[in-house]
Amino acid sequence: MKKATITLLILLFSLPLLAQEPPKSDTLRGIRGWFQHLKDRRTIIVHDTIYIVTEIDDEEDLDIEEDPEDEVVGANKGGIPMPFDTLNTDDKYQKVILFDNGSWIYYDIPKPDLPDFISNDHWMTDQVHAYYDVNVKDLPEELDIVLCDSVHGWHIPGYGKMVSTYKVRKGHKHQGVDLGIPHGEPIYAAFDGIVRVALPTKYTGGYGNVVVLRHANGLETYYGHMSQYIVETDDIVKAGEIIGYCGSTGRSTGPHLHFETRYMGQSFDPERIIDFENGTLRDTVFTLKKHYFSIYSHEGQSDKESEVAATQVPPKNVTYTVKKGDTLSSIAKKHGTTVKKICKLNNISEKKTLKIGQKLIVK
Ligand SMILES: [Zn+2]
Repeated sequence: MKKATITLLILLFSLPLLAQEPPKSDTLRGIRGWFQHLKDRRTIIVHDTIYIVTEIDDEEDLDIEEDPEDEVVGANKGGIPMPFDTLNTDDKYQKVILFDNGSWIYYDIPKPDLPDFISNDHWMTDQVHAYYDVNVKDLPEELDIVLCDSVHGWHIPGYGKMVSTYKVRKGHKHQGVDLGIPHGEPIYAAFDGIVRVALPTKYTGGYGNVVVLRHANGLETYYGHMSQYIVETDDIVKAGEIIGYCGSTGRSTGPHLHFETRYMGQSFDPERIIDFENGTLRDTVFTLKKHYFSIYSHEGQSDKESEVAATQVPPKNVTYTVKKGDTLSSIAKKHGTTVKKICKLNNISEKKTLKIGQKLIVK
């Protein structure tokens, strides 16, 4: 509380300056929402140093702290102070709203309500893939996944044309879609969720600066190649919240968002849930079928076609060139696999000494 008080004293001193500036356009949308909210509670009047509530004519409890030492001031009795800008606090779910009469209040933004179990299983924050010990064959044949409802919304992960689809590309599995978004443009959380991974390029084996969100329905969404991410592990994010900015970090030849959708670590075509061309969610409930996990299965196929496609054997040819300081376990970690699996693929012993420049099959 002390910390917040200090922040606010500084804000107050800068009020006259701020008062002359119009609200920044990127905050306008948010403010309009809050205007509405404030109008609903038109009896709130706030003094400019401490929150003071006067004339509450409904019995509703208000989210405002009172300082008993301060006098109640009806500075603007009868009139409604109009909000003109917002300021961030240390807590992203709390803003300061500034009014045209020089007063301000804290405003708590509702946090998405997420169940605790979401981070109980396979919760790994230092590597991109957490479910590498889960086999497709152990997953259910079919599963209904609720993508959004009246409380939990969704948002397009970024505004850009699709430049690459979910498919085998140049002999490699491309397990997501690429959206051509200009460098520095925002990347949004597709659904409410919790940040499992926010890692820089050097730990992510091709994904570049990447964020992985886990959602309450069991899905995870991946956002790769960002120039910068602005969330950290354990942050709760709302659908539509900016999590970073588009870039070209990692294995990438130009700015784009690499977007993946996964269930228990298994990827499926993101176009199955989002129509990127029209910027719409295909449905609020998604029936995920086991054969969707094949890289050859994609949106637009009939179930029969998808089932047939899924019988093809996918390429297993992700190779990695050993660099200074690498160990089998660091390479395994980077690629979401195990030392055992790498050794089996390369027919080497787990005790083998690696040479710099040596090529290893990792998947
Ligand atoms: Zn991609």
